[in-house]
Amino acid sequence: MVQDHSDAHQSVRELARRFARERLKPFYMQRERNETVVDRALLRQMGELGLIAPEIPEEFGGLGLDSVASGIISEEIGYGDFNIGYLPVMGALMAKIIADFAQPHVAAHWVRRITSGDAIVAIALTEPRGGSDAANLILRADRVPGGYQLNGEKTSISTADQADAILLFARTGAKEEVARGVSAFVVDTTTPGITRTRFNDLGSKILGRGSVFFDDVLIPDDHLLGREGGGFSQIMQGFDYSRALLGPLCIGAAQASLDESWAYIQQREAFGKNLAAFQGVTFPLAEGETAMEAARQLCYHTLRLRDAGQAHTAEAAMCKWLGPKASVDVIHQCLLTHGHYGWSMDMPHQQRLRDVMGIEIGDGTAQIMKMIIARVKCAAFKWM
Ligand SMILES: Cc1cc2nc3c(=O)[nH]c(=O)nc-3n(C[C@H](O)[C@H](O)[C@H](O)COP(=O)(O)OP(=O)(O)OC[C@H]3O[C@@H](n4cnc5c(N)ncnc54)[C@H](O)[C@@H]3O)c2cc1C
Repeated sequence: MVQDHSDAHQSVRELARRFARERLKPFYMQRERNETVVDRALLRQMGELGLIAPEIPEEFGGLGLDSVASGIISEEIGYGDFNIGYLPVMGALMAKIIADFAQPHVAAHWVRRITSGDAIVAIALTEPRGGSDAANLILRADRVPGGYQLNGEKTSISTADQADAILLFARTGAKEEVARGVSAFVVDTTTPGITRTRFNDLGSKILGRGSVFFDDVLIPDDHLLGREGGGFSQIMQGFDYSRALLGPLCIGAAQASLDESWAYIQQREAFGKNLAAFQGVTFPLAEGETAMEAARQLCYHTLRLRDAGQAHTAEAAMCKWLGPKASVDVIHQCLLTHGHYGWSMDMPHQQRLRDVMGIEIGDGTAQIMKMIIARVKCAAFKWM
């Protein structure tokens, strides 16, 4: 297990662990069965406990901690409920981007609402044309007196139909400018001209995913983030952060399946012995523990690089590739270890498998993460 070196990290882990295991885990499956949106009272409670973006300065409602603290929260909350755990990950990313790039009065409005659990801010990058070639956007934000006018569609947006605001990427320059013609905005979802839909997904049902349509939507000038045309170069760098946090989120979910499997094989018998007596049963779980520990160390290493102000783009892409991939493999193995019970919808492994698998695609696929790693490495060894 990762050693928490500071008292603050230990306290955050204890708090998040207790909340996840007592308040979240017993109701993970019930939430999927009975609810279609995020329980806002639960989100506010997390905000009150300081479990959303604790690295944000106190003036914005954070605790002034570091990125490792957010990683600990992702892992612990992911153990209890992967989907609830997605919210502090997005909260950490959105709060940081808005605090860094929004006008002070816009930041003051949204960041405090995110850290208090009062607002969900979604990211709208993907378009019907595609998500991997992310800079090749079609949706336009055209300059008009007083602001920008938006027309077009964003699709595959997590929490599309329940988010209070959207971090939106749109084309303000010519198509040929590719990334240099993209700008970012904070858009209140109550703005006239916005309509939203919801898809019928395999997992993460309380979050939901859908399209957001913009029909002559007017965004005030002061809701531009950073400089016009700086959406990609300035703001997309922030996504290194969410990639490093999504790893621990997935690892937390897989660790829950592993822990349940160790307990199960010690009470289930076959051939006159506990299943735990058979290496054919214990070795796959031992391999799973090893994979999770390796992925966990990578993620905390990446977050420490970030806290030290060092480059971590390749490492963050490694977290985003390895974390979900290794976790899906481990949860699959745990499902099989439970035999026919594992195949039941009454066991949590199937739900964790479906939920975590979504993050193999969301926020960039494995191929795109490997492209990022390769790009960084090629640049580093260009002159050898
Ligand atoms: C659960 C979930 C949540 C999501 N949440 C959000 C969200 O909140 N906001 C948002 O904007 N988007 C979100 N997305 C969309 C997601 O970011 C995109 O689905 C993803 O970036 C891939 O884009 P695409 O689906 O258009 O696939 P495409 O870009 O069409 O790619 C299809 C396949 O081809 C591969 N591929 C593409 N180009 C290459 C290449 N050059 N080399 C090798 N392989 C390649 C891809 O890896 C993929 O396997 C979410 C998706 C999911 C599943």
